[in-house]
Amino acid sequence: TGIAVAQALTDFASEIATHEMTAELERSMDEISEGKVSKDSVVDRSRDVLRQVYGNLESSQEEFADIVRSGIREDSVLGPCKKCGKNLTVRRARKSGKRFAGCEGYPECDQTYSLPPRGEIIPLGTLCEACGSPEIKVVGGRRPWITCIDMQCPKQQERRKAAAEAKAAKAEAAAAAGESNGSAEGGERASKTTRKRATSKSSPKTRKKTAGAKASAKASAKAGAQELEKSTT
Ligand SMILES: [Zn+2]
Ligand SMILES: [Zn+2]
Repeated sequence: TGIAVAQALTDFASEIATHEMTAELERSMDEISEGKVSKDSVVDRSRDVLRQVYGNLESSQEEFADIVRSGIREDSVLGPCKKCGKNLTVRRARKSGKRFAGCEGYPECDQTYSLPPRGEIIPLGTLCEACGSPEIKVVGGRRPWITCIDMQCPKQQERRKAAAEAKAAKAEAAAAAGESNGSAEGGERASKTTRKRATSKSSPKTRKKTAGAKASAKASAKAGAQELEKSTT
């Protein structure tokens, strides 16, 4: 879509934006100042060029709108409907304004799916291996996530269950840490230091070299490689 729109814009704007036009105007300015041509004739000529451009824009307006419209339509197609094979598209409920996935076969096919209320929905063109419904990427919020559009999908239910379990386990661990350290805050600090200890298991040499310097992990990796190179040659 983006490409189609950009192409359309380029086509229609080409005459407005041509370098030649600017160059010609500049040339004309010079000619006016040199007294070779009258200002009026240049203005007339510019007016003609502009009229031509506007004429182009007007005649292709409908065509341009079609390109944009079809591009938008293309973007909102999520994939084939499981029930009838026609396209599922992103729609908006007239009353609530909530978006949902509906089938192009409506009203013969009444297949619908509710969609995440927030974030940009990007159709992936792939189908969920568990339920066969189209998969989407939702961009916005904390981080993009990929899901199929069927909330009843066994894979999604599994994932929700796993997420809930992970949350519960985390809460439990935090509570346990809080108990052993006397306070929840202490637990937090303790877990942070263990993490720090775990991540800085690089060679002492490398660590020494980059210590103090505001080197990124990448830089320290590079330094490590150089160190290694030095020691092998
Ligand atoms: Zn359908
Ligand atoms: Zn699924």
